[in-house]
Parts: sequence; structure tokens; C-alpha cells
Amino acid sequence: MRIGAHVREDDDPIGAGEALGADVVQLFLTDPQKWNKVTEHPRAEQIRASPIDVVVHSSYVINVASLNNRIRIPSRNAVAQQAKAAADLGAIGLVVHGGHVRDGEDPAEGFANWRKLFERQADKGGFEVPILIENTAGGDAAMARHFDDIARLWDAVGDFGAGFCLDTCHAWAGGEELVGVVERIKAITGRIDLVHLNNSRDEFNSARDRHANLADGTIDAEVLAAVVVAAQAPVILETPADGVAEDLAYLREAVGDA
Ligand SMILES: [Zn+2]
Repeated sequence: MRIGAHVREDDDPIGAGEALGADVVQLFLTDPQKWNKVTEHPRAEQIRASPIDVVVHSSYVINVASLNNRIRIPSRNAVAQQAKAAADLGAIGLVVHGGHVRDGEDPAEGFANWRKLFERQADKGGFEVPILIENTAGGDAAMARHFDDIARLWDAVGDFGAGFCLDTCHAWAGGEELVGVVERIKAITGRIDLVHLNNSRDEFNSARDRHANLADGTIDAEVLAAVVVAAQAPVILETPADGVAEDLAYLREAVGDA
């Protein structure tokens, strides 16, 4: 099983991964809070050559579901651009949050916008890496918080080979139980391509997205380890930096060679 972490050192992700003993690292390719364009990574060659796998997390400003043209259109462009840049690095995928419509808007239109993202790109030959849609923690009009919404989302995008990224903090804070979560989500999506393994500082169904180190949060760490064993997918920790090395050590011990 490939286990690693999101690395904050975006300029040297492989060095950061090596320091942690990670099999896989996740990085941003641009400031995640801005609409900046992606430029060629200064260490692209090293990243491609490294045995450490790489997954790219897309910018947080992206909201593919949005009914607002001024958000949705740049979001589509940013997903295509970041997928291309991820492919240039040999990444295993591009993580994109499920996004949301606004309160009072029809979620069906948001699901349709997700479908259009894939439809339009299919006309251009499809995305160059798998798009891994991540579940999110908050909001009543989210596309991928509650699993019944993820089922509607998958009705819209499943035909296009969309991938899924399961975030344990988001599922828990979003109000989805973690015992049996892998089976429940696979019954909907047919796949889990990546696990974001995070504990939660907040209670079940709090709708708050605050990650905690594996031993520190409101989720039983053994339940988190069980998710990893069941999912059989690469694992990225997005836990507070100070405890990541400890989280990795715990996880390697807990999952053994499962
Ligand atoms: Zn995540």
C-alpha cells in the first residue's frame, strides 16, 4: 500500500517526501486560494523520475458545480489546465472538491454542471489524468457531502470514468459514519482511487473541516486504520505538519502489509 502525505514544500515535493519516507506525496501546483495560472514546475524532471508517486490537489477556488458563470467557467479552465500540468509531472490524478451550489439553487443544475465538465473535455480527448472527486464536509447544497448526493453526482459523471477521493475527516464531519464507509461508497462509485486520511477536530456531523492528527481527533484511530485496509488505495495524510511523521509511523504499524 502506498502511504504518504500532502507536502507543504511545493518547490521541493520529492525532497519533502524522502524526508518523511513517503511512497506518495500530494502537492498544489499554484496558490490554492487564487486563480493563478500554473507554470512549469522547476523540479519537473526530478518529480517524473522519482519512485515516489505524485498526486496533485487542485485549487480550492475551483467550483465546477457553480451556477455562476464567473466561477464555473474559470473553474472548468483551471481543472483542464491543472490536469494537463499534473500529467506533465506523471501524477496519478488530480483531486477536485465536489463543490456546491448556493442555498436555494437547484442541486440538479450543479450535478449537470459536473457532467458538462466531462462532456466538454471528452470532445477534446478527455482529461490527461484521472479527475478524483473528493467528498466535502460542509454546506447544505454540496455536491459530495452526503452519500445520497454523491449517488446523484455519480449518475451524472460515472460514465466518464470519474475517480473518487475519500476524505475521512470530511465524511465524519459531514455526517457519514466511517465504519463500513468503504463498502458504502464503493457501492455508489465502484471505486476509491485515493484516501485522504485525516482525523477531525470536530464532532460527527459538525459540518466543520478542521483536520487533526490521527491520534488527536474525535475519530477512533483504529477506525481510520480500518478504512485504509478496506480501501486498498493510496493514502495521503493532510494532518497538521507537526504530527505527520508520527501519523505515518502509526499507520505503517497499524496496517502492516495489509
Ligand atoms: Zn482532503
